[in-house]
Amino acid sequence: MTVRVRIAPSPTGTLHIGTARTAVFNWLFARHAGGQFILRIEDTDEERSKPEFTENILAGLRWLGMDWDEGPFFQSQRIELHQQAIQTLLDQELAYRAYDTPEELDLMRDAMKVKGQAPRYDNRHRHLTSEQQAAFEAEGRPAVIRFKIDDDRTVVWDDLVRGPVSWRASDLGGDMVVARASSSTTIGQPLYNLAVVVDDIDMGITHVIRGEDHIANTAKQILLYEALGASVPAFAHTPLILNQSGQKLSKRDGVTSISDFQTMGFVASALANYMTLLGWSAPDANERFTLTEAAQQFSFERVNKAGAKFDWDKLDWLNSQYLHEMEPEALLELVLPYLNKAGYSVDLDTDKTWLLPLMALIGPSLTRLTDAVEQSRFFVTASLGFDEAAKTQLQLEGLRMFFRAF
Ligand code: GLU
Repeated sequence: MTVRVRIAPSPTGTLHIGTARTAVFNWLFARHAGGQFILRIEDTDEERSKPEFTENILAGLRWLGMDWDEGPFFQSQRIELHQQAIQTLLDQELAYRAYDTPEELDLMRDAMKVKGQAPRYDNRHRHLTSEQQAAFEAEGRPAVIRFKIDDDRTVVWDDLVRGPVSWRASDLGGDMVVARASSSTTIGQPLYNLAVVVDDIDMGITHVIRGEDHIANTAKQILLYEALGASVPAFAHTPLILNQSGQKLSKRDGVTSISDFQTMGFVASALANYMTLLGWSAPDANERFTLTEAAQQFSFERVNKAGAKFDWDKLDWLNSQYLHEMEPEALLELVLPYLNKAGYSVDLDTDKTWLLPLMALIGPSLTRLTDAVEQSRFFVTASLGFDEAAKTQLQLEGLRMFFRAF
């Protein structure tokens, strides 16, 4: 069996560190197994998906060094395929049209809450007669399409990270909406769980590797694989990335987008190395490697179940190691955009002869590429950049005498 994995980001924001780390684990697994790594852009949320986010995601993956073998495929161009699958489910009576209004659903959930029950859909439209359906249609009610979930089932799978997982189907919230805004003859917008399963089947995905926040989706998706008569792939749920207080890393913790890390002066190879360590450790305890080196040793046996704490000091340390060892030529190429951005007018053609020794000089003391701006200032601007307080100090009589003598 050829391993086929995918990363399926939604372009509703820039490439998030969590998505990038999921991509890293997919990439490592694919390269280890000599398989294929596929890129699918899940852009079905028309309002929130933006082409500039897709660009940012592609650029971020490329920057980190994760080449993909197929794609990018765009989920929005595959809606017909999703609708065909829904039609199959309808034809086999594994799905049905439900006509509940939002108000009716709210009332139903409120009543459950009053009784101390967890809110869920009570499957009330599962067995509508054709007369009842026609009456709702005549009222002009739009339908959603719900996939039947057998409450008596327990969904089980052997997770490559978490071991055996079992999920009671009765905890999945009742019959699941797979398409919105449908009528008696049409199928509206297919929803995430259905679209993902149809695409993963169509693309021959053998292993679904994604964040553990998708575990409940996996239980629903396994039921859909079975209903569609497809073989169920293997699943690996990777641990979440946490901040120092143990909560899920979010915007409040500062940067979360790969492009932000780039702006802050991290080197792609150091960041990719660090992300590999977020949840995985090498058998030989080595902590410094390229993605290709990590791929040789990668296995899910060494992926942690517990959340991975994001450690800025460690990332800084790794970054500095990469910078300290870099040849002046390579360092210059990375540093130049930061110098130019800071407004220094340096040019590779005319200034290389003194920029290279400058890189050799400052390289061993850099932690981030942005440090090079400050450390090059004197050489580039011939100004020590004294502030007013320092200038006043330097005018003091004693100091002037000292400097004259010096
Ligand atoms: N578009 C989904 C996400 O970004 C994909 C999840 C999956 O891998 O199935 O969370």
